Amino acid sequence: MELDLIKLGSNALKKAALHEEAKQFVLQNEKIFQLFKRAANRYIGGETLEESVDTIKNLNNRGFSVTTDFMGESIRTESEANKATLEFISLAKKIYSEKLNSSISLDLSHIGLLVSKELVINNLYKICEEAARSNQEVIISMEGTDRTDQILDVYKEALNVHSNVGITLQAYLHRTQNDFEEIKKCKGSIRLVKGAYDTPEGLSIPRGNKLDEIYLNYTEQLLSSDHPCAIASHDEKIHKEAIKLIDKYKPTKYVLERLLGICNEEFEIYKNNKYACRMYVVYGKEWYLYVCNRWAEYPLNLFRGLADIVD
Ligand SMILES: Cc1cc2nc3c(=O)[nH]c(=O)nc-3n(C[C@H](O)[C@H](O)[C@H](O)COP(=O)(O)OP(=O)(O)OC[C@H]3O[C@@H](n4cnc5c(N)ncnc54)[C@H](O)[C@@H]3O)c2cc1C
Repeated sequence: MELDLIKLGSNALKKAALHEEAKQFVLQNEKIFQLFKRAANRYIGGETLEESVDTIKNLNNRGFSVTTDFMGESIRTESEANKATLEFISLAKKIYSEKLNSSISLDLSHIGLLVSKELVINNLYKICEEAARSNQEVIISMEGTDRTDQILDVYKEALNVHSNVGITLQAYLHRTQNDFEEIKKCKGSIRLVKGAYDTPEGLSIPRGNKLDEIYLNYTEQLLSSDHPCAIASHDEKIHKEAIKLIDKYKPTKYVLERLLGICNEEFEIYKNNKYACRMYVVYGKEWYLYVCNRWAEYPLNLFRGLADIVD
């Protein structure tokens, strides 16, 4: 019964995330907007780059490294892709000028993947060049399965030119077994996630012990070979097992990674115990969709939202 209700809530929140009327209602009604924003603040660095710099500095001062993402995806015109690219370049400049300990994370579909390969490569290279000035990485997120081949293709091409580019692999995809073998041979860093997108039947492994085992197997391969990697999860069990592997292999190029605002209490403890912890900070005005998605993936977060609103 409880599980059914949680599933019902999750599906409703996924619908709300994509419901244009509901979004406009929230964004255009000043009072509701302010309430909703109070709940959103837990998850976002700010609406602008300037606001986010304070969040990043604060996290750095507390001992977290950061990766920063300007929210957005699935851009379908060249001009919008170029506009997003300029924002990422400004972010890279800010990281340099403010000496922030932050890499950059992005969706390739935000900077032109759906327009043309030439455009996305050009835009990615410009961002990588700027990020290289402060020795920072640009980490490519992984999107839905209809884009996996294109994303891996762009990543491999980019690695020939820029060494500061990394990739995200989704442990839940069956195909990742092969992709992992191939990508592990490249020097770039690998962010390992379970996977967030609905997939066509047969392509992915559902949440459960089998997926956890597979995820931890990849984790062990990365940590034991000291391949640069990010073990990105909010699952306490996964991070506790990863910590055992870190103690065993003593890798030097790993981070444990979580999204800002999600299960950050335990993360504070890992960081205080000297494990390398990186916080993923998003910023921008598109937070409505982002927050609905964070609630949908774990509907109990709605109660946190309520508490944030009334506090
Ligand atoms: C830094 C980072 C980057 C990511 N990048 C990508 C990407 O590029 N592509 C992609 O497909 N996915 C990405 N993801 C999402 C990822 O694939 C998972 O969907 C997400 O992390 C949930 O899976 P999980 O491993 O945390 O645990 P799950 O198996 O989903 O959940 C296990 C337990 O973790 C806790 N938990 C999980 N989520 C939450 C939450 N939102 N709030 C509170 N508790 C929670 C709960 O206790 C839950 O029972 C990223 C995740 C992180 C942390």
